[in-house]
Amino acid sequence: MSHPQFVTVLGATGSIGLSTLDVIARHPQRYKVFALSGYRQLAELLALCVRHVPLFAVVPDEKVARTLQDDLCAAGLDTRVLVGEGGLCEVAADPRVSTVVAAIVGAAGLRPTLAAVEAGKKILLANKEALVMSGALFMQAVRRSGAVLLPIDSEHNAIFQCLPGDYARGLGAVGVRRILLTASGGPFRLTPLVELESVTPEQACAHPNWSMGRKISVDSASMMNKGLELIEACWLFDAQPSQVEVVIHPQSVIHSLVDYIDGSVLAQLGNPDMRTPIANALAWPERIESGVKPLDLFAIARLDFQAPDEQRFPCLRLARQAAEGGGSAPAMLNAANEVAVAAFLERRIRYPEIASIIDAVLNQEAVVDVAELAAVFAADTQARHLAEQWLSRHGR
Ligand code: NAD
Ligand code: MG
Repeated sequence: MSHPQFVTVLGATGSIGLSTLDVIARHPQRYKVFALSGYRQLAELLALCVRHVPLFAVVPDEKVARTLQDDLCAAGLDTRVLVGEGGLCEVAADPRVSTVVAAIVGAAGLRPTLAAVEAGKKILLANKEALVMSGALFMQAVRRSGAVLLPIDSEHNAIFQCLPGDYARGLGAVGVRRILLTASGGPFRLTPLVELESVTPEQACAHPNWSMGRKISVDSASMMNKGLELIEACWLFDAQPSQVEVVIHPQSVIHSLVDYIDGSVLAQLGNPDMRTPIANALAWPERIESGVKPLDLFAIARLDFQAPDEQRFPCLRLARQAAEGGGSAPAMLNAANEVAVAAFLERRIRYPEIASIIDAVLNQEAVVDVAELAAVFAADTQARHLAEQWLSRHGR
């Protein structure tokens, strides 16, 4: 590929967006920012525009757009402000763009990410919810358009690095026995079960190893994050749920492993810093500096492993069930989880009720086929409705 390449960062103001821009700024000859999007943190988005001088910025509504456009003009920038999902899809599919970083959180990222897929871009996928919701359609669209889908979720990037280049022939054909997906166990790995009744959003968001957005931090505490990642791995690597085993590894140094039939187990290690998988995917198949410190094995000294406890982490069981159920089940799981996590962050429910809500939603609705995007969104809407009903039934 010739340089510099234009990069669109969807969700630029978030944790992944900022890590991406940090890597990009280290390589001005290779990458130029085409567009940045933000949702609520507009002062932050303005500062990012001043720093990276994108051609476009995308915000949720017209009022915000007018304010940002005025501020950009006052700062002497030509950056044009676009609005809403249409604007996001436009900067994801623009012919001048070669790479799109999909770092919006949740279902809101699905349409813009698909727009990048359909335009045949190189896509750095952080927005796992998009793939969980619409896996079959998403992967069909990738094959049809010739888009290059590279995972930047650290586990999936690790698996990608440990697989041979021709893994698309099938995991069996390249000698893979199983994928070992590592999980830190989050902040509640050792918390006595009775105390989980009263944990706060602040405790849930205080991840021992990673600094991340609030939604994924709660998902990490409940291990729904690992459940979503299990589904993500099945789609990315064409694996059966039974081929993906979750391993708790509290140090977060091994980011995942691939177990081959000859007994070899390949792992990718590194400091827990998202700039490594981001740099890996940005430059792939080359390697570039990411700003991440070299791994100091002597300081780490030991690596521990344990099996996950499903009584402590019921969300992991629910996600595995949804993965096995297929069809609309993962979209329902994801939507119910988004509503439940938002309610927990707003202190409307207790932490164990996140799993109760998802369980109730999944049990109330039959799994259906999702052959079109409309069916995915119908499942998403129905699950949100059922989750809201649960909240009002319980007086929240
Ligand atoms: P974050 O909350 O820090 O950032 C989310 C971004 O999405 C922000 O830019 C926000 O403005 C934007 N956004 C939020 N709601 C939106 C909406 N309705 N429409 C448009 N934009 C919206 O989240 P994050 O931690 O950066 O995570 C982003 C994605 O990456 C998630 O899907 C997460 O699961 C995934 N991921 C994150 C990490 C991590 O280390 N943070 C690791 C692996 C995967
Ligand atoms: Mg991850």
